[in-house]
Amino acid sequence: MRYVIKEACLPDGQTADIVIQRGKIVSVGRAASGQGGTVTGEVTVVDAAGLVALPGLVDIHTHLREPGQEDSETVASGSRAAAAGGYSCVHAMANTNPVADTAGVVEQVWRLGREAGYVDVRPVGAVSVGLEGKQLAELAAMARSVARVRVFSDDGVCVADPVLMRRALEYVKGFGGVIAQHAQEPRLTEGAQMHEGLVSSELGLAPWPAVAEESIIARDVLLAGHVGARLHICHVSTAGSVEIIRWAKGRGIAVTAEVTPHHLLLTDDSVRGYDPLFKVNPPLRSAQDVAAVRAGLADGTIDVVGTDHAPHPAESKDCEWAAAAFGMTGLETALPVIYQVMVESGLMTWADVVRVMSSGPAAIGRVADQGRPIAPGEPANLTLFDPSARWLVVPEDMATTSANTPVAGRQMHGRTVATFYRGRATVLQGKVI
Ligand SMILES: [Zn+2]
Repeated sequence: MRYVIKEACLPDGQTADIVIQRGKIVSVGRAASGQGGTVTGEVTVVDAAGLVALPGLVDIHTHLREPGQEDSETVASGSRAAAAGGYSCVHAMANTNPVADTAGVVEQVWRLGREAGYVDVRPVGAVSVGLEGKQLAELAAMARSVARVRVFSDDGVCVADPVLMRRALEYVKGFGGVIAQHAQEPRLTEGAQMHEGLVSSELGLAPWPAVAEESIIARDVLLAGHVGARLHICHVSTAGSVEIIRWAKGRGIAVTAEVTPHHLLLTDDSVRGYDPLFKVNPPLRSAQDVAAVRAGLADGTIDVVGTDHAPHPAESKDCEWAAAAFGMTGLETALPVIYQVMVESGLMTWADVVRVMSSGPAAIGRVADQGRPIAPGEPANLTLFDPSARWLVVPEDMATTSANTPVAGRQMHGRTVATFYRGRATVLQGKVI
């Protein structure tokens, strides 16, 4: 299959035709259509006038729920949701059932991703056996497996024991792995329900202090510096966390960080209606924190956007606040949210979007074929985005199995029109195919 993408706007602002054939980008510039170029097989022409072409997006933080929680999502449904959102690669978190803490489970997830065929599914391995925080999982066996795991995380829970964290950092250093920490001091957040601040006192919900996140990040950047290993901080949500990461980077510590679309968009004010759609871990923070994570993403202190796409079945959200599960979906709305919050506002350019949503996450995950520039010879992983589109988020219309999106009923700015994965269109005219 050959695709000729006509008059797309590249991240640097130039307009070009992009030709894709046999899984690769073969030319970027003026397409030779109708001028005697050898065309073999079927040709699909995509009119991309007014559309922005980006390298396929890479998510560093996705929950695909399989094995074990297939009523929330499967590798196949999550892969389709990812494609719908413009992604060509996702990292699948390890808090499945069974936990992805052995070579066997990560290989199973990797195979399911291959079979689905919509994105590269890169399994994340657990740091500890059963996410229990006691004994180191088989990190080397997962790294050597066919899934070639490079990112390890107990996400969902924090690696709270500093000795285990130190050992994990030492272990992955040998093969270029990274420990992705869910920074949440467990004692400081026992029973916590929302961000500690004015709104939590008004609503009478148990407070989740910023320091519970910041104290773990401070400890772990020091540990990473001491060991000389790579550390990644999941879903940074507070102004203090941004300051600590900025300090650590200034000292040359190999730390990277992510922020979610929802922490860039929403504040703890959203919790006032007690709607569990806004219940998430870490919690939605204050307006000051939101301003700080936006600034941190724009200036490179926060390296990447991670969706923390966390699908839940209706019964886990359609209940009282205190009983509801933590988490929000995000794969299909991440790019419009980043466009609206960071690009329309003038905080970032399209080249910055490529850095935080494609090349940056690929570098953290050590994914060779993803996050590559739009250039001849590169793998044909591409996204076409229409900044002028306006659409209402209807959860039932989305590709994800779950409906727990915090932007339900909101108008989005911009939409993914097409996605190409290894030279095949996975989305055309806004529809997953
Ligand atoms: Zn987490």
